Amino acid sequence: MTRTIVIGGGVAGLATSALLAREGHEVLLLERHDRVGGRAGTLARDGFRFDTGPSWYLMPSVYDHFFDLLGTSTAQQLDLVSLDPGYGVFSEPESCGCSASVEIPHGIDRVRQVFEKLEPGSGQRVRDYVDSARDAMVMAERYFLYNPFTSWRSVLKPEVLLRLPKLLRLLGESLQKFVSRRFSHPVLRQILGYPAVFLGTDPRRAPAIYHLMSALDLDEGVMYPVGGFWRVVERLEALARSNGVEIVTGAEASRILTTEDGGRPRATGVLWTDRNGVERKEQADYVVSAADLHHTETQLLPGEARSYPESWWKRRQSGPGAVLVMLGVQGALPELRHHSLFFSSDWDANFDAIFGTEQKVPDPASIYVCKPSATDPDVAPDGTENLFVLVPVPADVTLGSGGVAGQGDTDVEQIADRVIDQLATWAGIADLRQRIVVRETLGPEDFARDYSSWQGGMLGPSHILRQSAMFRAQNASKRVDGLFYAGATTAPGVGVPMCLISAELVVKRIRGDRSAGPLKSVGERPRGADRISDHHA
Ligand SMILES: Cc1cc2nc3c(=O)[nH]c(=O)nc-3n(C[C@H](O)[C@H](O)[C@H](O)COP(=O)(O)OP(=O)(O)OC[C@H]3O[C@@H](n4cnc5c(N)ncnc54)[C@H](O)[C@@H]3O)c2cc1C
Repeated sequence: MTRTIVIGGGVAGLATSALLAREGHEVLLLERHDRVGGRAGTLARDGFRFDTGPSWYLMPSVYDHFFDLLGTSTAQQLDLVSLDPGYGVFSEPESCGCSASVEIPHGIDRVRQVFEKLEPGSGQRVRDYVDSARDAMVMAERYFLYNPFTSWRSVLKPEVLLRLPKLLRLLGESLQKFVSRRFSHPVLRQILGYPAVFLGTDPRRAPAIYHLMSALDLDEGVMYPVGGFWRVVERLEALARSNGVEIVTGAEASRILTTEDGGRPRATGVLWTDRNGVERKEQADYVVSAADLHHTETQLLPGEARSYPESWWKRRQSGPGAVLVMLGVQGALPELRHHSLFFSSDWDANFDAIFGTEQKVPDPASIYVCKPSATDPDVAPDGTENLFVLVPVPADVTLGSGGVAGQGDTDVEQIADRVIDQLATWAGIADLRQRIVVRETLGPEDFARDYSSWQGGMLGPSHILRQSAMFRAQNASKRVDGLFYAGATTAPGVGVPMCLISAELVVKRIRGDRSAGPLKSVGERPRGADRISDHHA
């Protein structure tokens, strides 16, 4: 039997181990923490349960396909609730002190009306925009996201060639420009530009191809998995275990072992330390690292085995860092939707502060607030609300760590104080601060310590063009045979759905499957496909 070790039990590690186990591998997954999930974390405090990472269920079709590969379905694994409105948007208050808010309802026809009201004539344009986004999404799923990019022939298909001029335009133009050419109302521009943040970048630098993200929230609507993303993690863990994966927590991988016979190195196993501090050596035919790629490459591999040494990272751009503020609040907060976005007026200054040459914490910041207690009674005690506030900041560990009840590092707590006041003013909740009964924060240093994340970033390398698709670090080591990579810091990129796809890309790499689209099945190889082998480009 093929023995495979997977390092890291985040979404990508769980997904990869489940698929490989179904493919027939004997899989050992090593996770340093006592829980799996990685950045898709959970925090329980005084009757509240917070998701400390993802909260927006993006790209539902990717989840559907992933569960299908494991012989199950989204309906069997998750209870999805459609949110209506999908989300609310608060703009920075004018001098009058009042903040304009807009709600994005479910379904393109109602979204058209919202657009039309703000900018006459934009209703039809948003319909065209969403049609274009849907087409881009279909093409991305068919030819780019699931493509290991080991064969150019995989994309030389009539339907790609037919769209080539448009695709090139969408790659060459920024999302911001693409949006600005169609819409002039500042809030509409922000609504359409904001998805770049999900990809860890700035709408001025994200290629316009990523307008595909709007096909989801503006048309298909926004869904919430009951139990939050922690439920998604629980289901992934259960599926990994039921497919035979052995999951060991409290297991710190310290070295990926490679052959040292003078030829091209090959991964032979992993050196790791168990929860009792005992060092162990485990042999394997394949090693998959689903830990942060910078950590894998610069800490777990010897110098000569590195495909992406420190010098490579110097030329890369991280996505943002984050200060996260988890709040338990007494009483109801009808002012907030399940998802609320707070957009500052000086959009460019906001992104310059996070990604520019003179980085600082934006003030006021554009923030995201999730109130899952709007939909899910189990995340907060009766008569209270659960708030998760995400403040994008520069990826800078010197901002420090968070803490319980205001006891985190000064910068992090000051940022938290500021956004609590911002939230109170913009949303008109004057007594918010007095109603807080639980407060806990996380900062960039927590990300660096807990997940070995590069520069303390929350997401990984940003999705600017030269860090997207075939230009992003791919899923197989260039130097070490039998070593593969999964997760947000590799291809195809950041976000839970992308991590599920990265798992599939590892399966393809191991199979030697060069096709562009999603796999039809795992566990049974289509006739004529390669046997499991380590022959990868
Ligand atoms: C605040 C926040 C909000 C987000 N919002 C969304 C959202 O709304 N929707 C969405 O789809 N995505 C969202 N994302 C992105 C998404 O959560 C991530 O892309 C995804 O969870 C990353 O998973 P991963 O498995 O690649 O990495 P990680 O979660 O970092 O997992 C890596 C795992 O490896 C372990 N590890 C590291 N080094 C070692 C070692 N040496 N030995 C053993 N174990 C090790 C770590 O402990 C960790 O468990 C968000 C992320 C954050 C942080």
